[in-house]
Amino acid sequence: MMKVYNSLSRRVEPLVPAKDNEIRLYTCGPTVYNFAHIGNFRAYVFEDVLRRTILFNGMKIRQVMNLTDVDDKTIRGTNAAGVALTDYTAPYKKAFFEDLDTLNIQKAEVYPAATDHIPEMIELVGRLVEKGVAYRSEDGSVYFNVRKFPGYGKLAHIDFDAQRTGARCAADEYDKENVGDFALWKAWEESDGPVGWDSPWGRGRPGWHIECSAMSMKYLGETFDLHTGGIDNLFPHHENEIAQAEAATGKPFVSTWMHCAHLKVNGEKMSKSAGNFFTLRDLEEKGWSGREIRYVLVAAHYRQGLNFAFSALEDARRSLARIDQCVSRATDGEIPGWAKARAEAFTEAMNDDLNTPRALAELFGLVRDANTKGAGGTLAAFRRMDEVLGFVFPRDGGKKEAEIPPEVRKLADERAAARKAKDWALSDRLRDEIAAAGWIVKDSRDGQTLCSKSGI
Ligand code: AMP
Ligand code: ZN
Repeated sequence: MMKVYNSLSRRVEPLVPAKDNEIRLYTCGPTVYNFAHIGNFRAYVFEDVLRRTILFNGMKIRQVMNLTDVDDKTIRGTNAAGVALTDYTAPYKKAFFEDLDTLNIQKAEVYPAATDHIPEMIELVGRLVEKGVAYRSEDGSVYFNVRKFPGYGKLAHIDFDAQRTGARCAADEYDKENVGDFALWKAWEESDGPVGWDSPWGRGRPGWHIECSAMSMKYLGETFDLHTGGIDNLFPHHENEIAQAEAATGKPFVSTWMHCAHLKVNGEKMSKSAGNFFTLRDLEEKGWSGREIRYVLVAAHYRQGLNFAFSALEDARRSLARIDQCVSRATDGEIPGWAKARAEAFTEAMNDDLNTPRALAELFGLVRDANTKGAGGTLAAFRRMDEVLGFVFPRDGGKKEAEIPPEVRKLADERAAARKAKDWALSDRLRDEIAAAGWIVKDSRDGQTLCSKSGI
C-alpha cells in the first residue's frame, strides 16, 4: 500500500482514492510569464513521480494542472512588453509543454488556463460574498474575511489568534507576518493596462488563489483526494485555496496535501526574483540532457532540500552510463529470484512516501547483481523500475535497444570485438551494415550503444 506524508495532518498516511479506485489530483502549474526554471521542474518532476507511483500501484488517476496566465507577474510582464496578455503568455505555454517532454514528464489529463475560467471564478467569489465571508472594499476589490472562516491557518499551522486582525493584503504572494484578508477579485487599476474583465463588482481580474479553487473544483469536484505543489505554495496559496473552497461549499476540500522542498543554489531557494536560476534550456545548451537533469531531480527525496550543482549532473551521467551498459545486456525471460527481490524492495521504497534514494539503491543493486550474476531475465525488473523513475531507459532509443533484432545484435558484438582488436576497417564496415539494418551505433568510453534510426 502506498503511504505519503500529508502536510495537513503532518503524518505519513495511506493514500487511498475516495471513489472508483481513481486518485483525483490537482497540481499547481506554472505561471507562464517566463521559461520555467529547474526549481519549478523539481516540483513537476516530483509530481510526475507521484503520478507514476499511483499508476504503478494499480490505481487510476485524474490529474489537473493549471496554467496561471493572469496574475500580478504576467500582468507586469505583458504591460512591460506592450503586447496582449495572450500573445505574451502563448510562447511560454508552448515552451512549458516542450520542457515537460524533455524531462519525460507524463501528461496530466487536463491543463486548464486561468483566462478560460473567469466566469467560474466570478461565480465562486459571488458565492463567498453571498455567504458573508467576503466583502467588497472601497476600490471595487473583493476580499476574503479570514476571521469568518474558523479553519483558517489549519494547513500552515498559523496561530491565528495572535495575528493582527482586519489587515488586508492585495498582493498574490506574501508571508505569514502579513496574514490578513486576501484579495479574491482585484479592481482594475492603471498598471493593469488592457487586462480586465467585467464583474458584479466592476472591472477587474481574479486573485491568484481563487483561480486554483475554481479550476480544481470544476474538474475534480468539491472534495478530492490529493493536492500538491512546492513548499512555497503552502502559505498563503494553499491555505487560501482551502479557505475559499470550504467556506463556499461547507465540505472538506482536499484529503491529502503534499509539498516538495526547494531546489537551492548555494543554500538559497532557486527563484526568478533572486536571479540564481537555470532554465532547462540553459542546461541543455550546456550539453546536459533532459534525462540527466531528471535523474538529479528524482535522486533526492522530495521532502529534502536539494542543492543544485554541476557535479550532480556529472554523477548522473556516469550513473546512467552504468545503467545503460547493464540494460543493453538485459533480456526477457524468466526473472531470477534476486532480481525479483530487488524489484519488490524498490516498490516498497517508493510506497514509503516516495523514498527515491532507497529505490535508486535497489536499482543500482540490481545493476551490480546483474553485472556479476548475468543480466538474463532482468529486463522486466528494469522496465518496472522505469515505469516510476522514467530515466532507466534512454527515450525511445533505449526501449528499442531491448528489441534489437538478433542479427543486428550479432553484428554489434562482432564490431565490439573488431574494435577491441583495433581492426578499424572491419569496425567501420560493420557500422555500415548495422546502419543498413536501420540502427545507429554510438561509441562512448563505456562501450557502444545501439539506437533505432527512428528515435533517440
Ligand atoms: P510558480 O510558477 O512560481 O507559480 O511556481 C510553479 C511551481 O514551482 C510551484 O509548485 C512552486 O512551488 C514550485 N517552485 C518554485 N521555485 C521552486 C524551487 N526553487 N524548488 C522547488 N519548487 C519550486
Ligand atoms: Zn495553485
